[in-house]
Amino acid sequence: MTTIPTNNDIERSDLGVFYLSVSFLLVFSTLLLFFTSGLLSASPIETTETRVSQTTAPPPETEPQYIECRGVIFIDPGHGFLNIHGTLDRGAGQNTYFYHYSDGMFEYQLVMYISRKIADVLTERGFTVLMTRDGGMDTTMSRARRIAMAYEADSILFLSIHADAFAHSNPDVARSAQGARIYFNRNNPHGYGEKSYIFSRYLARAIDYTQGASTRQTLLVPNQNFTELQAAMPSALIEVLFLTNPQDAAKAATPEWQYLMARTLAYGIENFVATRLE
Ligand SMILES: [Zn+2]
Repeated sequence: MTTIPTNNDIERSDLGVFYLSVSFLLVFSTLLLFFTSGLLSASPIETTETRVSQTTAPPPETEPQYIECRGVIFIDPGHGFLNIHGTLDRGAGQNTYFYHYSDGMFEYQLVMYISRKIADVLTERGFTVLMTRDGGMDTTMSRARRIAMAYEADSILFLSIHADAFAHSNPDVARSAQGARIYFNRNNPHGYGEKSYIFSRYLARAIDYTQGASTRQTLLVPNQNFTELQAAMPSALIEVLFLTNPQDAAKAATPEWQYLMARTLAYGIENFVATRLE
């Protein structure tokens, strides 16, 4: 038995064709969009043409500044090796507020956390970062060897990271010292005195900026004796804070502060390198 199509049936089948066309168009345009966006994002080099055709492109000043050949940054997490007596040099820790707040951590561990985070941030920004130590602590290493390593690696900067402790018979005096101090050697034997001073100023500015200070808070301390400051490249040694100050120690024990300090120092390093290349 055959059925004669009614008007309703005809309308329904017309609608069916209509829906089919609409859904086909939708699928087609979705595929087209997917394909073209895939093509754009997959292109390895952003050409001038694509930049011009992108009407939503950010203004030029917000585009990332790519610096070619950034070079090697050498980070020295202080202590952490066997000393000449064959015992591990842990740096400051015991009898400090930091030791208490961090559940038994020493300076050599804190500066390692910060150094690794600096390396992560700078590596992401295109730098090559090398460190004097990265875990293994079964060998001895003199301070002279640390700067020699940086020189052999053709590094453009050397930054030694420490945390301070203030020993004093009066506990009130002992806990009074706080904040960061940056040591530099304006009489660097290899002629990097001025650049080391400028590098230190960049680090201090980055710390002051992070802390919201409108004036210089971070101390810059001239020093001709630290071996780390005799490097054949711009160099600085930072004491990030005082483990013997209750407020500093409480901050230092948190991963949030460690990461903030690492990002701040990475920012100072990157800014200094950028001006060197101008
Ligand atoms: Zn130290």
